[in-house]
Amino acid sequence: MRLSGKMSQLGSESAFKVLAQAQALEARGMDVVHLEIGEPDFSTPENICAAATEALENGYTRYCNSQGLPPLRAEIAKELERTLGIPVDPECVIVTPGAKPVMFYSILALLEEGDEVIYPNPSFPIYESMIKFTGAKAVPVRLYEEKDFRFDIAELKAGVTARTRLIILNSPHNPTGSVLEMEDLQAIADVAGEYDITVLSDEIYEHFIYEGKHHSIASLPGMLDRTILVNGFSKSYAMTGWRLGYGVVPEEMVDPIVRLIINSVSCTTPFIQHAGIEALTGPQDSLLQMVAEFKKRRDLIVGGLNAIPGISCRLPGGAFYAFANITKLGMSCQQLADYLLNEAGVATLAGTGFGEYGEGYIRLSYATSLENIEEALRRIETAVSKLAA
Ligand code: PLP
Repeated sequence: MRLSGKMSQLGSESAFKVLAQAQALEARGMDVVHLEIGEPDFSTPENICAAATEALENGYTRYCNSQGLPPLRAEIAKELERTLGIPVDPECVIVTPGAKPVMFYSILALLEEGDEVIYPNPSFPIYESMIKFTGAKAVPVRLYEEKDFRFDIAELKAGVTARTRLIILNSPHNPTGSVLEMEDLQAIADVAGEYDITVLSDEIYEHFIYEGKHHSIASLPGMLDRTILVNGFSKSYAMTGWRLGYGVVPEEMVDPIVRLIINSVSCTTPFIQHAGIEALTGPQDSLLQMVAEFKKRRDLIVGGLNAIPGISCRLPGGAFYAFANITKLGMSCQQLADYLLNEAGVATLAGTGFGEYGEGYIRLSYATSLENIEEALRRIETAVSKLAA
């Protein structure tokens, strides 16, 4: 069979590949601590499950509005007004099965062969994959550990050309846990305004902030009209398998994206959208408890990693990942990740799974219990000490 040439440009996510490898080892009897996959280990709160069941029983099982149910869009707009302090028009809110489709549809709607997109590197691998799939050019801007993995604005500016159509941001950031400050966002907004560039701001980890506050570039003057704000329920409400996300997009992008939805998935499952309404309007204590627990885990894993000779790790301000520097161990990040999985039974991800500038780092997701983190740290320490011997 001859596949489309474009398929060679479509990448993947190493987290799913490593999960499958770890599960294969488990099937052979090995005990593995999972620090590879980026999803909360908490159950979806009961009130959200109950709202979905009730909606199912009430017959919300048919095709529905392709853009998203109006009551959910209204609640999303209200929530954003509350958190960003800006009026969001529910007509500019688009509901999709997960946050990923908003990215994919926006990129498909905006980019042509030869257009250029500036994106952080390392970063969520799907950005680069989707950009390349459209035939556009992916222009990486390196995130430096010395800069707390925030953008070097001069390097970002140097990447802008007459073909730059889009800048992608992700704060709090996967895989480094970095958080962009207001001054970063203002500088990026200035570049976007000066060169008439759209910004895609992926804010899926907005609630996972351990110091300070989440800021959205969409809240800066004039930016709502040029920002595609991407968010969803997967992480905040422990709903990764439900597939529920949303975008707030400039008015001109609503119709193209809705047509892409109609051409692909038709709509987002209506009883799941009712669960989304409950997530936003119901009690928020599960979310607050989860974030408090993640903070304890972050402190444990970062402290533990820094106590292992040859490994160092900055304290990430957000998300639920530690991005540890392993350059002193004298092996590539892929070699180390393979060694830790096969010899120590600890599944982590090589930094290069997030782009070329991830070399020298491994990502450890701390979306697992304190006991599992302690066990993983013990195993990593023993495995690393054998390397030195
Ligand atoms: N954006 C980032 C930065 C992520 O890390 C992830 C998942 O790992 C997603 C988006 C995907 O979100 P969803 O599961 O809602 O599609």
